[in-house]
Amino acid sequence: MTATTHNVDHAEISKFEELASRWWDPHSEFKTLHDINPLRLDYIERSVGGLADRTILDVGCGGGILSESMALLGARVTGIDMGAMPLRVAELHTLESGVEVEYRHIPVETLADEQPASFDVVTCMEMLEHVPDPSSVIEACSRLVRPGGKVFFSTLNRNSKSFLMAVIGAEYIMRMLPRGTHDYSRFIRPSELDSWIRPTALRTVDLMGMTYNPFTQSYRLDPHNLDVNYLVTCVRDPDA
Ligand code: SAH
Repeated sequence: MTATTHNVDHAEISKFEELASRWWDPHSEFKTLHDINPLRLDYIERSVGGLADRTILDVGCGGGILSESMALLGARVTGIDMGAMPLRVAELHTLESGVEVEYRHIPVETLADEQPASFDVVTCMEMLEHVPDPSSVIEACSRLVRPGGKVFFSTLNRNSKSFLMAVIGAEYIMRMLPRGTHDYSRFIRPSELDSWIRPTALRTVDLMGMTYNPFTQSYRLDPHNLDVNYLVTCVRDPDA
């Protein structure tokens, strides 16, 4: 057992703390996040119908790859994370890039108590599989988005193919990720994610797979293949 407070696994956070300085190096351990970013950004932008002037919360923002790209499209973005180093890197990067993002070191559950229903859009990417209780994060996201607003989650499915691709392939064969980045037992099946979404005010409106082709070394969106990485779009009930 590792220490947990506020639904945070400190062993998970320390993995990202150690790597933080390399966050913006597209050839580093974070290469995958850089590679998939244009795809997920495009998916979110199309779903929302443009990001200009939208207020967006990016939960588990890390070094800010997605946060900055959404701000570049005109959104007013707040990024939160429980890792101090990734947030520092994110802040430093805004000085270099000149992109405006507000970063805060605060648990998502606390922010949901502080300012409920205050974001047009909430994104929570590649984060749920690092958290002791993902349902608590989902519930907090459902409170943070305004009624009628959208919440986007992405995570890794749990099956033999995702084990081969995300753990053995990416960490051991391709060496794209440091060994131990992912704990397979924490990967989340779409049905499990759905069982945590259903009790909240959110309703799932779309599921989208992100597939990797090791031969062309490229990613693409594929609605028929949720086997490894996938995105979920939810809408908060306009009356809730
Ligand atoms: N969402 C970003 C970063 C993904 S890496 C992206 O997709 O580009 C996972 C991030 O989740 C790390 O920055 C890690 O510090 C953060 N994280 C892990 N547990 C967390 C928690 N309980 N609360 C907030 N952030 C957490």
